[in-house]
Amino acid sequence: MNHQLKLDGRESRNSFNRPSTAPQAVYIHIPFCTNKCFYCDFNSYVLKDQPVMDYLRALDREMELTVRETPPGEIKSIFVGGGTPTVLKPDEMEFFLSSVRRHFPDWAADIEFSMEANPGTTDRDKLAVMKDGGVNRVSFGVQAFQNELLSGIGRIHNTDDVFRSLENAMAAGLDNLSIDLMFGLPNQTVEMLDYSMSRALELGLPHYSIYSLKVEENTLFHTLYQKNQLPLPAEEDELKMYLLLMERMEQAGYKQYEISNFAKPGYESRHNITYWRNEDYYGLGAGAHGYVNRCRHVNIKGVNPYNEATQQGRPILERFEVPREEAMEDFVMVGLRVLEGISDDRFQRQFGVRLEDMFGEQLGKMLNAGLLERTAAGGYRLSRKGILFGNEVFAEFVGALDGK
Ligand code: SF4
Repeated sequence: MNHQLKLDGRESRNSFNRPSTAPQAVYIHIPFCTNKCFYCDFNSYVLKDQPVMDYLRALDREMELTVRETPPGEIKSIFVGGGTPTVLKPDEMEFFLSSVRRHFPDWAADIEFSMEANPGTTDRDKLAVMKDGGVNRVSFGVQAFQNELLSGIGRIHNTDDVFRSLENAMAAGLDNLSIDLMFGLPNQTVEMLDYSMSRALELGLPHYSIYSLKVEENTLFHTLYQKNQLPLPAEEDELKMYLLLMERMEQAGYKQYEISNFAKPGYESRHNITYWRNEDYYGLGAGAHGYVNRCRHVNIKGVNPYNEATQQGRPILERFEVPREEAMEDFVMVGLRVLEGISDDRFQRQFGVRLEDMFGEQLGKMLNAGLLERTAAGGYRLSRKGILFGNEVFAEFVGALDGK
């Protein structure tokens, strides 16, 4: 459920004093899924009857046009999200991965090349093609270890698929694996989450992402919620779940490096850190957003309109430079998600002013409320309490510079 990270509802970011450099991170969107999960508002379409090969050719064209306009640097991370990229058949996957390699040929020796996958969509042949094509990290959308919870959120896999898929990945030599889990699901209890955590931790993977369910507009869950027919856990249970999962991860030796992400040392998602640090990245594919040379762009969302647009040029829906004040607010909100926090040094390097000069009032208020604390490097980070109430902290910075 990582897909392309949502940046707290504000997808636009920019930097200012930083000289522009060739991007070193690439996001590519494959918008097809076997079915639509009940909570999903991502740009994804049910695979049946979709023009998959046309889409992959359009992507190839978009990559060609993009790197012609902005040649890439040495690539440090590639993230293929969706959708479910692993619904591609082995020959489609091979075509796609060779396109990526052709347009982005210069890879760092330690490149992180991640692909999202759903259990049940990765047989050994496909995993072998992925590995041959350079993929070295796979993130599986597992969500829970109870089949009744999985079917209740519209997932098509079951727990047997999870174990088989992970076994297949390891047999293919892919051992940098991550799984996504969810909490706050309809009918989920604290005990059920505890059970899922036990099963997940028995796998001993290097990385886990654990998200709370958000009821988004234009989803089946939103309709049910409005009719009062979505049996979500009580708020205090959801809080207990979050406390429980953090405790379980810590006991098992994982570092929580972001609000929803836990890793063994050295296995933090490098690609996501690009977003959180406000660095450049290419965004390719239907509905993808990218940030290159101080400009933010969003691509056309629909598959056919996207395919057609690439015949004429880059399939961009909008491209804009983000106002400086908004970029500063984003720096703080997105940066605070990472538990090491934000530093005044980096803020000054990007914007040429001190963090306190822009956000002194808000930072002071959050320190007094015990939601932020100072770091040894003179910056700010979420306190233990602030991790639990992150949204309250982030809300403090939305529009904080309006009219300044
Ligand atoms: S697999 Fe992911 S992208 Fe596809 S429908 Fe489910 S949540 Fe959405």
